[in-house]
Amino acid sequence: MDEGVEGDETRTKFAVRMIETKKPGFLTVYFAGLDHEEHASGPGSTQSNATLERLDVAVGKLVSAELAAHPDATIAVVSDHGFVATDTDISLFRPFIDAGLIKLDAAGKVASWDAMPWPSGGSIAVVLSRPDDAALTGMVGTLLEKLAADPQARIAKVATRAEIAAMGGNPQASFFVDLKPGALAAGFATDTPLARPSRTQGMHGYFPTLPEMRSTFLVMGKGVAKTRNLGQIDMRAIAPTLAIRMGATLPDAQSAALNIAD
Ligand SMILES: [Zn+2]
Repeated sequence: MDEGVEGDETRTKFAVRMIETKKPGFLTVYFAGLDHEEHASGPGSTQSNATLERLDVAVGKLVSAELAAHPDATIAVVSDHGFVATDTDISLFRPFIDAGLIKLDAAGKVASWDAMPWPSGGSIAVVLSRPDDAALTGMVGTLLEKLAADPQARIAKVATRAEIAAMGGNPQASFFVDLKPGALAAGFATDTPLARPSRTQGMHGYFPTLPEMRSTFLVMGKGVAKTRNLGQIDMRAIAPTLAIRMGATLPDAQSAALNIAD
């Protein structure tokens, strides 16, 4: 997939044509260009702002086409995360290898592991081979505590199983390490140090408590309040809200629908 803004502009042409010729009752269009550019040059960079302006034009074309096809359509713009500028790659693989939690063979490939970091952008899940092994859990917890005290590791928080569950995070993780804004999780490599300057200029995937991770929800349509500020919402409320507009319900939704009616 072409993740650049040029790809988004091509997708816009296809989507406009689809709206004009097929008049679909439900359509989603995904724009990857801003995420792509913010990773490359950072949020708020000249290039990122130029990308945003081009996407604004693309959204305008989609809205015009949709309103021509369905004057009473509901149209929503949704983003899935915010962004922070980054400068440092953090690799927990190095300290995990040094602690014997990951064992390498002669070729430098993973031979076996007791605990494995799972990089997720601005945070790192830590998965144990034996999650119920109290000794292993204690050993990894102690290592993470030691790393959290090291300013080089740029760790903001180490979440425990209970804290991960409360946040709705990955249930396979025994620990979840949130990095400080500016640091990001490096991919697997055996020759990467704990910290090194990053080529990536922006990242997401930090804990949702970080204000910079907040994103956008805009909605318009017949019967939708025109100037209501919904404040801070749970993004899991968006799907049930839009389902109601389509005359459907999502009984398994984890968040209640928003009141967007005027
Ligand atoms: Zn991204």
